[in-house]
Amino acid sequence: MEPLVLTVDMAGLPQAWVALEDAIIYHAKQLVAWSLGDVVREFRGGWQRNGTRSRIATKSILAIKGTIPGGHFHTPGLTNALLFARDRQLCAYCGLRFQLRDLSRDHVIPVSRGGRDVWTNSVTACRRCNTKKANRSPEIASMPLLYVPYVPNRHEHFILRNRRILARRRAANEPSLRRRGALLTR
Ligand SMILES: [Zn+2]
Repeated sequence: MEPLVLTVDMAGLPQAWVALEDAIIYHAKQLVAWSLGDVVREFRGGWQRNGTRSRIATKSILAIKGTIPGGHFHTPGLTNALLFARDRQLCAYCGLRFQLRDLSRDHVIPVSRGGRDVWTNSVTACRRCNTKKANRSPEIASMPLLYVPYVPNRHEHFILRNRRILARRRAANEPSLRRRGALLTR
């Protein structure tokens, strides 16, 4: 499995997980201010006039020039994939763990009763509990929440995203990615 590289802004705050090929592009464009961590991959660059070949060593953390400290972060968008990752695929009502296909987004206060489609009003629910709760608040349905929904913070968001990227890569054969990787390392 290809390792991912963490890009940070000039203040060292995390910005994004990027694939190795993107890390190489940052190096090639000389946008890397400093790097930290272990060398995850060494790439060969072009031939120099003196007959040697340049080398680019990518470390696991890269600070990208010109990024405004903290300027790139917004509240992460609410998607089912991130929601289910936040809640570790546990139903907020029965507490059992389910496969992704058996999960749904439940609005604690139903949208039809004025609830909003936001992180703090959304929990993971199995289809059975979601159907049982129907168009009611947890109090009225007598189905107390087992955990309190929250907005994932910056660090958590990156952890969730990485977990999701890794899961997706594991699940799917991605010939296009491999092909791109092969082109870059050749
Ligand atoms: Zn349930």
